[in-house]
Amino acid sequence: MKNVLSTPIVYLKGVGPKRGEILQKEANIHTYRDLLNYFPFRYIDKSAYHKVSDIPFQEGAVQLKGQIIGYKEVKQGRTKRLEVRFEDETGIIELIWFKGGKWIIPKLEKGGWAKVYGKAKKYGAKFNIAHPEIEFLNGPNEDSLGLQAVYHSGEKLQNLGFTSKGFERIVAQLLPALKNQIHEFLPDWLMADLNLMSREQAYFEIHQPSSYEMAQKAQVRLKFEELFILQMELLFRKEITKKKIKGLKLETVGAHFNEFYKEHLPFDLTGAQKRVIKEIRSDIGSGIHMNRLLQGDVGSGKTLVALMVMLIAIDNGYQACMMAPTEILANQHYNTICEFLAKMDLKVALLTGSTKKADRKILHEQLRAGEINILVGTHALLEDVVMYKDLGIAIIDEQHRFGVAQRSKLWKKNLLPPHILVMTATPIPRTLALTFYGDLDISVIDEMPPGRKEIQTSHRFESARLNVFQFLENEITKGRQVYIVYPLIQESEKLDYENLMDGYEAITKRFPLPKYKVSIVHGKMKPEDKDYEMKMFSEGKTNIMVATTVIEVGVNVPNASVMVIESAQKFGLSQLHQLRGRVGRGADQSYCILMTNHKLGEDAKKRLMTMVETNDGFKISEVDLKLRGPGDIMGTQQSGLLNLKLSDLSRDAQIVKLARIKAEELIERDPNLSEKGHQKIAQVLRKVLKEKPNWSRIS
Ligand code: ADP
Ligand code: MG
Repeated sequence: MKNVLSTPIVYLKGVGPKRGEILQKEANIHTYRDLLNYFPFRYIDKSAYHKVSDIPFQEGAVQLKGQIIGYKEVKQGRTKRLEVRFEDETGIIELIWFKGGKWIIPKLEKGGWAKVYGKAKKYGAKFNIAHPEIEFLNGPNEDSLGLQAVYHSGEKLQNLGFTSKGFERIVAQLLPALKNQIHEFLPDWLMADLNLMSREQAYFEIHQPSSYEMAQKAQVRLKFEELFILQMELLFRKEITKKKIKGLKLETVGAHFNEFYKEHLPFDLTGAQKRVIKEIRSDIGSGIHMNRLLQGDVGSGKTLVALMVMLIAIDNGYQACMMAPTEILANQHYNTICEFLAKMDLKVALLTGSTKKADRKILHEQLRAGEINILVGTHALLEDVVMYKDLGIAIIDEQHRFGVAQRSKLWKKNLLPPHILVMTATPIPRTLALTFYGDLDISVIDEMPPGRKEIQTSHRFESARLNVFQFLENEITKGRQVYIVYPLIQESEKLDYENLMDGYEAITKRFPLPKYKVSIVHGKMKPEDKDYEMKMFSEGKTNIMVATTVIEVGVNVPNASVMVIESAQKFGLSQLHQLRGRVGRGADQSYCILMTNHKLGEDAKKRLMTMVETNDGFKISEVDLKLRGPGDIMGTQQSGLLNLKLSDLSRDAQIVKLARIKAEELIERDPNLSEKGHQKIAQVLRKVLKEKPNWSRIS
């Protein structure tokens, strides 16, 4: 028997071919199922109205009931703006449509009743509401009591009658036809554990709620279902990949690792570093391919973990590589690793875009001959000519800058794919990690090396600049060094570049030669000039480093104690946190100063406040998620893959976590989903796994 839910939407009473087409085009509704999943985005209490006279005292949106007393169209450039005068028994207010008001005009009848919902704004002494939701009524008492679902619509949909009310009507047509057609698939024990509403009831209640409470319960049930299936999918994919892909067995922890650990490690590992190394060790020693994400705040000591893991690969007769997103960073990693390994008999090499052709050739040969143990570099590592004798592990630093395709290239560098460890310095909120990396293993370094002092962060306005400069002078006099960073959203942006140069000039005037030396680094410089300036600064030969965000990631100069960020309002939270992480690496008290002018938007204020209040990268990432949303953080391409209809990763964090816990519990109880009570969920899952392409992000 054919599933009623798959019936084409045109067959629904009140739709038909022409209107069906617009539903498909504009709302992606092709079948009954699609309409059922076209969820209302909010509810209004039909019985609760504000009065026009309440408006000045009401924060947020208002709902009004009243009559139309007139309208006019006002020319604005090439388009027309629609202004409607609307009145209730307490006063008059203007409703405005800057565009898209055409469908309303034929319905505007003098004295006609309507219900209006929107946010009122003040213009001079008067208020108006721009683009309100409007519903025309046949009389003052037409609307009944209770809750009403509100659906998204658009001009083209509205022109054919699919206002929010129009959707309400066709949904009312649809639901009776679906009685006993919406089948439960969650196991009984899970329903009971979480006290969930049944699937059918949830779909009915979400569209036609009997109360706020029931609407909410319906939402929780359907969001849980959505996130639970996603988590089941991720966990299964992880299992499947593990079974399918044999991994190199790197089980020996041998001479190199031990020599380094016992003789050359200049400090004790933190507990978190030890734990993470152990996790990785048992993973790469198991014969299963490793796909692991290593998260840790800036300065938590990821590089060292990476190095020690690479030593294990070498102990097992393999080579290792480490890829960084910029040349500066690759250089820095190279230097750090060379220093750490100075007393050991290992060959470390560097390959970047600016490696000379002749050197490159030699390097390629040595690599193929297995003479190079560790190769550090940039994207240059991905080129086809770069071939290894036996690559055992690839470390990718600062993951968010590399695309999926680039990472997958690393795989082909060996007969059996090398183990992959991705390190990210931008802590990702747990909900995002669970959803976007749910099919990877995750290790977290949640502890800082001892002796670090909290960086003191302050926000200063332009008017305090002289004081700020005086402060810098004091620090420099104490022998410390200073970063001053300018935003350069795009390295080619002329205006930003000029700002940087103006800033540089002002700073060299305030801190003149020969007493002070100022370095500058920006994207337009030649790599060798950049390196030279970086080197001067890191060797303490210059006092101030004026730079753009090229220094954002990874740079390590422990003597630098002040980070000044110019036009700090232009930076995102994770970027600010990254930049701040450049200081506080030595034993001295460090400072971060966020400079802005007085014009600040709400979000900018929140970002600055968060920076001043906390140094905890994970807390910062949670705020970032609330401000920007998951799409912006993970890249729209990746967030599109999820295609969540109902859930919102920033607001539904609790449900995400619950879904993960319950998915793990189910798999623990019945790994193959073969029990009788689990057959329906098994079926749903099989379908999902078949329909969606495999999008493991690292493999
Ligand atoms: P990130 O995690 O940001 O990449 P790094 O690996 O650059 O951090 O480490 C930051 C600094 O801390 C480096 O100078 C490193 O040598 C030092 N470091 C790393 N681990 C420890 C430790 N266990 N004890 C003391 N210092 C450490
Ligand atoms: Mg680092």
